[in-house]
Amino acid sequence: MPLIIKDEYPEKLFREDGKRLDGREKNELRPIKMEVGVLKNADGSAYLEWGNNKIFAAVYGPRDVHPHHLAKPDRGILRVFYRMATYSVFERKRPAPGRREKEISMVISDCLEPVLFLELYPGTSFEVFIEVIDADGGTRCASTTVAALALADAGVPMRSLVTSVACGKIDGELVVDLSGIEDKAGEADLPCAMTWFNDQLSLLQFDGEMTLDEMNTSMDLASEALKKIYEMQLNALKEKYLAVREEVNQSQEIENIGGDE
Ligand code: ADP
Repeated sequence: MPLIIKDEYPEKLFREDGKRLDGREKNELRPIKMEVGVLKNADGSAYLEWGNNKIFAAVYGPRDVHPHHLAKPDRGILRVFYRMATYSVFERKRPAPGRREKEISMVISDCLEPVLFLELYPGTSFEVFIEVIDADGGTRCASTTVAALALADAGVPMRSLVTSVACGKIDGELVVDLSGIEDKAGEADLPCAMTWFNDQLSLLQFDGEMTLDEMNTSMDLASEALKKIYEMQLNALKEKYLAVREEVNQSQEIENIGGDE
């Protein structure tokens, strides 16, 4: 899939054959790949490729809070640091975290917090570092999704995973999972996130124009997409534990062979 690198808005966001510019149907997600346990030094980690987005998430905790004055005596705190690399977009991005990154960090933290048992960890923090190394629309949703995986990989007790996707309106049509160019040239963008333990939304942002009916239809589209992404998250976690089991079985086999000799 070609990366659209310049802010040249195309006249139309649908091709002659009715498909989107990247060849997708309206309810089709971009290709998604996920892997957990990708960083050796973090307590938990995950990597996600979602269309042209490439994102790492690393989790540390529970651990002491620095600066100490942020610690809460009756509960733990969740700190999320969403960053876009300077080389993640076509024009070099300034390295210092801007207003957008601070806002997205806060949004992701709000999405994830409902699934954590922070009350069990007074005086400590869980820190989630998110590095977007390639960005192409929907990075807050992709980051939330990969951060939830990294928390699970760290063995942090969770009520459930969290999954996020955006839907929106482009050229008057409702679509799921907006690419960067659709996000910029489209009429509306509606990122949402689902916490699966209670089937509730922990994020619903809205930018643009839509009727109430369109919003309801968009939520149906999002719901269908969220279920697919959730399955992928579960599979990514299962794959890691199947690999661990295979490793344990193999080392037991080697031990048994050693014992027989
Ligand atoms: P999201 O990534 O969650 O959709 P935005 O709507 O703010 O968040 O951004 C849409 C897209 O615009 C991003 O995914 C990225 O591709 C691009 N973008 C964001 N910030 C910058 C920037 N500073 N320079 C160039 N492109 C950017």
